[in-house]
Amino acid sequence: MKIQNIKKKISLCNRCGKCVPVCPSFRIYKTEAFSPRGRLFLISHEKEHQSFDFCLFCERCERVCPHNISFPEVYLEKLKRKKKIVFSENIPHFISKDPLLFFLRINNWLHLIDFKKEQQVEFRYGEGDIVIYESCGLKHFYPQAFKKFEEHLKKRGINVGIPRGLVCCGAIFLNLGLISQLKENALKNLEILEKTKGPIVVFCATCLWMFKKIYPQIFKDTAYEERFSELSQRVISAYGYLSLEMESELRVLEERALDENVLFHLPCHLTEEFNLVKKKLEIKDFCCGSAKFSLWLKGFQKENKREWIKNLETKSILATHCTGCYLNFNLLLKRPPLVCHWLELL
Ligand code: SF4
Ligand code: SF4
Repeated sequence: MKIQNIKKKISLCNRCGKCVPVCPSFRIYKTEAFSPRGRLFLISHEKEHQSFDFCLFCERCERVCPHNISFPEVYLEKLKRKKKIVFSENIPHFISKDPLLFFLRINNWLHLIDFKKEQQVEFRYGEGDIVIYESCGLKHFYPQAFKKFEEHLKKRGINVGIPRGLVCCGAIFLNLGLISQLKENALKNLEILEKTKGPIVVFCATCLWMFKKIYPQIFKDTAYEERFSELSQRVISAYGYLSLEMESELRVLEERALDENVLFHLPCHLTEEFNLVKKKLEIKDFCCGSAKFSLWLKGFQKENKREWIKNLETKSILATHCTGCYLNFNLLLKRPPLVCHWLELL
């Protein structure tokens, strides 16, 4: 977006305050600078503030704003214009392809991967009627969700195709402000996915958001704009695909959602698509605190835990649809509840 357009967008803010109480960081810190309205004021006066790092890109502000002003959209433009950080050019391929594994290893969090379960699921590469985006979370955290989904599709004679060579969506690099690495991953995914046909199904809400919103915004006004826009139209969440194509499987999930031991959690980045699907599950909508590493160092996720606990009193299963939420819940909650992906309950 051109800088004049951003300024124009910010100038639409009439300071009504609707975005203030919905912002997860305002809810914790209760000061104007940590609200979307406060951040917009600071950024429009070309000020830096530590609160920018506390933006979780959840887009709750945009959803309630009468003018659809999104702090993440404005902030992303600022990040895009920042000078390149030299070390971002040198990230080794094994990290840029699968940063989750690296991140878990350096934090001593490998116990979050059930290696036995991981080995039980075979990701066979090749073409199919629909494309599966093999994300870091799908591989390491909830491969069983893919297995169940694939089994149901097979019964209907639908083959899944997993393209070889896909890399992480780049959300982790966005959180670190490494825009050049994010672009590199986006272009790699574009190159591979453009050679495929059919819907592209993603199991993580954040990957969905990266493909649908961040890639098109990052490449706006470039030669890639149209290609990313076309790609974004093919991407759908695994639940979205179920709700369109697989009614009976959806009923299984609906029954699970009515079970009082199970809580279906709606990740921020799935909200938009979930609002559009015809058949909705009974869900609870609360913020996981994001998986931003810098916020882990500041204890932000722990502050958010109080809100999760309120929702979990009698629950033995907490199902989510996002890698970051899965990570936070598993790290900070004692079992029960068992944390899993929505589609593991199929
Ligand atoms: S809801 Fe929109 S118009 Fe109202 S204060 Fe927030 S950004 Fe400004
Ligand atoms: S995206 Fe979320 S965290 Fe960021 S300013 Fe908006 S409501 Fe707050």
